[in-house]
Amino acid sequence: MIKNYINGALVEPVSDEYFDNYDPSTGKAYEIVPDSDERDIKLAVKAGEKASPMWSTTPAEERSKMMMRIASLIQRDLGEIARAECVDNGKPLSLAKSIDIPRAIRNFEFFASAVHGFASESHSMEDRAINYTLRNPIGVVGAISPWNLPLYLFTWKIAPALITGNCVVAKPSEITPVTANLLSELCIEAGLPKGVLNIVHGYGQKVGRAISAHPAIKAITFTGGTKTGADIAGIAAPMFKKLSLELGGKNPNIIFADCKYDEMLETTIRSSFQNQGEICLCGSRIFVEKSIYKKFKDDFVSRTKKLKVGDPLESKTDQGAIVSKQHLERILSYIELAKKEGGKILFGGRQVHLEGRCKNGWFIEPTVIEGLPYNCRTNREEIFGPVVTLIPFEAEDEVLKMANSTEYGLASIIWTENLSLAHRVAAKIQTGIVWVNCWMVRDLRTPFGGMKSSGVGREGGMDALRFFTEPRNICVKL
Ligand code: NAD
Repeated sequence: MIKNYINGALVEPVSDEYFDNYDPSTGKAYEIVPDSDERDIKLAVKAGEKASPMWSTTPAEERSKMMMRIASLIQRDLGEIARAECVDNGKPLSLAKSIDIPRAIRNFEFFASAVHGFASESHSMEDRAINYTLRNPIGVVGAISPWNLPLYLFTWKIAPALITGNCVVAKPSEITPVTANLLSELCIEAGLPKGVLNIVHGYGQKVGRAISAHPAIKAITFTGGTKTGADIAGIAAPMFKKLSLELGGKNPNIIFADCKYDEMLETTIRSSFQNQGEICLCGSRIFVEKSIYKKFKDDFVSRTKKLKVGDPLESKTDQGAIVSKQHLERILSYIELAKKEGGKILFGGRQVHLEGRCKNGWFIEPTVIEGLPYNCRTNREEIFGPVVTLIPFEAEDEVLKMANSTEYGLASIIWTENLSLAHRVAAKIQTGIVWVNCWMVRDLRTPFGGMKSSGVGREGGMDALRFFTEPRNICVKL
């Protein structure tokens, strides 16, 4: 049973109410989730405030050791946690084992060591004065995360907040709460002092909003949809809370004719459909230079046809279940919209009905669409599923115009062997992350985040450590 983790203990919600949690591969409810509200957030904040003087003055080295302990416990239970993530989210077990959970471990390890290189700055004014900048923890901070990479993104927010001496009130997605609950248990086992991390489960409208609105929470790190980000900012900004918002995307994948073709094709299959296309970084608009358009289309469709949609627990499955019935219906409605807008379905487009254990699960075919104008709704709005569109182009300026024509600006992918072309396009494309001849290659030290409606602020490396600290400059006259 999932419980809130407040003040070091696993507790029931104040309301004593719960709602169902579903296994997307079977469509069956298999767990219950605390239906918490602002009363639970109040308790969590109180616990955080109580722990804050102790945790903020605990030497960074000690905090670092604690994080390494938590990382090693996740490592110990990797198999069990990966299975739980697979069942809760619908993603293939192989993916949870090789990417999600190892990355959650890495998040703790990375920030546990990054803190040692987090030095305060000093600015000398010759013989007149010297400045030094202290960076203190903020106090109690909020973290709200989505369902697509549950433990991976939850820990990506919690780890830098904790290592810099903050106490945290965190809310995982109500759709995928199970691994956050396992993390609570491991934090207790690791001996994390009570109140340092508090995890409150429940709906965004209640628990998420209560985090945005609580006056003692001075900073919020959020990953999720653009509309939700706007709601959080609307509540938190007038209180001058620090905000880091990682929001939606509609990422272009630009393929020039001179690219290393086979490598591009293999990676493009992944950047289109990995995790059922439910990764904010997936390249859902594929722009292909006209001279190779026909060849690419044929090869891409034939590779897509080979993807196995199936039981997430089976090792041969490439594409698992869609996270919820509601999300499945949303994706299908976008496919209908694409047809209405004049799109031709080259492959897929339908719900998949499996046999046996997964016969009531929520599956969908990987879908490839062509023939749509670059600026239609299907090509502007985020679908967040296994659906890509193919768009031919002839010139560099033309493809840049099309690629930059959405409100989003999260990530982009460029395929070419022409060095100056790659640099030119990378400099002009309006995204916070640009991958050239690769995808999802991640160095955790780099600034991560989007432009335009894809977000505000950057996560990762020193950016995250700066976000979770308040700088104070001290100027001493000599
Ligand atoms: P969502 O915005 O619906 O929910 C995200 C989290 O916010 C959940 O925990 C939810 O309960 C909570 N929430 C919902 N309404 C809230 C409110 N009014 N106030 C406070 N919290 C609220 O997003 P989702 O459907 O869980 O995730 C999919 C979205 O996340 C996509 O748009 C995707 O692009 C985005 N995403 C972005 C990144 C990134 O790094 N930029 C990474 C992953 C996912």
